[in-house]
Amino acid sequence: VARQPVQKGWDLFANPVPGNVFACLQELGVETIRQNDDEILGRCPAHFERTGKQDRHPSWSVNAETGMHNCFSCGFSGTFVELAAFMLPKDEDAVAWVRQRGGVERAKRILDKHRSASITEIDTSEVINEASLALFTDPPEWAMEERGLTLEACRHFGVLWDPKKDSWIIPIREPYSDRLLGYQIKNKRYFRNVPKDMEKSGSLFGFNEHEGDVVILVESPLDVVRLYSIGIKGGVAAYGVRVSAKQMRMAIDLADVLIVALDNDKDGRYASADIKTRYSGQVRMRFLSYTHCDDVKDVGAMSEEEAHIAIDSAVPSVLVKF
Ligand SMILES: [Zn+2]
Repeated sequence: VARQPVQKGWDLFANPVPGNVFACLQELGVETIRQNDDEILGRCPAHFERTGKQDRHPSWSVNAETGMHNCFSCGFSGTFVELAAFMLPKDEDAVAWVRQRGGVERAKRILDKHRSASITEIDTSEVINEASLALFTDPPEWAMEERGLTLEACRHFGVLWDPKKDSWIIPIREPYSDRLLGYQIKNKRYFRNVPKDMEKSGSLFGFNEHEGDVVILVESPLDVVRLYSIGIKGGVAAYGVRVSAKQMRMAIDLADVLIVALDNDKDGRYASADIKTRYSGQVRMRFLSYTHCDDVKDVGAMSEEEAHIAIDSAVPSVLVKF
């Protein structure tokens, strides 16, 4: 095999990238999913080795221009040559491998025509899939602290953070299949569903993660995460005060005891009374008690102690008054 001559200028480029990063990723056996501008999103190839788990919600991206790669979730990152070295058999020279694929030349050229060639091979549609979540991160300490959430609980429910908008990202998944339907973006000033017309009345946040015999039905997904953070399992959220018949069916099917824990306001009480009328014959039902706390709007706003008391002293359906 004729070796390519060492090209002058090699040392000028600290991070040589191949002529077509996307094609090289395929050749290396990396699972790519989608390209957003210059970022190619894919499943982190080092994730299992580093965390013991597959990169189920892809968190890894490679820059198509620079070849730099990074996993937001496990921290696997570096140059394209380092990535190639990780993926190739131990005895293969990664620098030579990249060089054979046009690494140095590409760094010398204007890259536009290469880029347009590689983009056509990639799905750049706006369809929601796991890669839609790839650029979101674990929530920062301060945001979790503000709501009394633990990182473990956020990860358990797949709750993420958009660092560009300083917002919570709450994935919405189909029951049973776990297919991603979309997500909610939420901060103090701002709330949005993506896609806008997402049909969420057929899913219950926390359904696929549910364990135990008790189901605690709340309005807001982050309250489910809050409960889990303080050791109270079984929370599910209806994404609001309007609990659909399908959501009620799902909750009842999961539960030996259903604790209705909608918000402490007029709408919440009205919806709770309605649930009592329609469903109390179908499942043992209790209603969250707010009597021991002053003026809290929902279970997520309670102190840890208050929340435990509220759950433990939930009122049986026959005794509750609204
Ligand atoms: Zn990773």
